[in-house]
Amino acid sequence: MTQLGKLIVMAGPSAVGKGTLAKFIVDNYQGFHLSVSATTRPARSGEVDGVSYLFVSDAEFTEMVAAGQMLEWATVHGKHSYGTPREGVDKALEQGLNVLLEIDVQGAFQVKEAFPGSVLVFVKPPSFEELRNRLDKRGTESEKEKQIRLETAEVELAQAEFFDFVVINDEVARCAQEVVDLSQST
Ligand code: 5GP
Repeated sequence: MTQLGKLIVMAGPSAVGKGTLAKFIVDNYQGFHLSVSATTRPARSGEVDGVSYLFVSDAEFTEMVAAGQMLEWATVHGKHSYGTPREGVDKALEQGLNVLLEIDVQGAFQVKEAFPGSVLVFVKPPSFEELRNRLDKRGTESEKEKQIRLETAEVELAQAEFFDFVVINDEVARCAQEVVDLSQST
């Protein structure tokens, strides 16, 4: 029988670079699968349905939750719902792949409850100032939305101590290697 893969949860503030890290790992290391989340947030320009996210309506999201199809879900930044569809995760784990989830802090704790063997990794920026710079540079949010994300970031950073590991995303390749090493050491 194939050995089950590991479930690796990466959480951390908006714009810390979780998405870039996750993509780097999937592109450069074998045996990793990136879960695609469902969200009620509208797609940003350049985002592709089914690749970036599964973009769903509020009603569809509620239905997925009610049908038990979400491994975890949360309302993020007090606005839209985000969740991890269970099916793709289960399938990939059964195939022996390590599954990466790039989700928020609330979702990370739900995953730990459902899968005590999962590895929770908190991704920190080198500094709060640098987080602000990355958010500015990304340029996808209005000033008001950026402010909300920075406020959420402060709350999230305070939760880092409850994670299995904390990594600092100072340089993508180095940090990705650290996440891969950690996931294989547990
Ligand atoms: P964004 O709207 O910038 O793509 O994502 C906003 C936040 O939602 C990020 O912190 C991201 O990690 C989180 N997020 C994305 N997908 C999920 C998910 O499936 N579940 C949870 N709980 N959070 C998610």
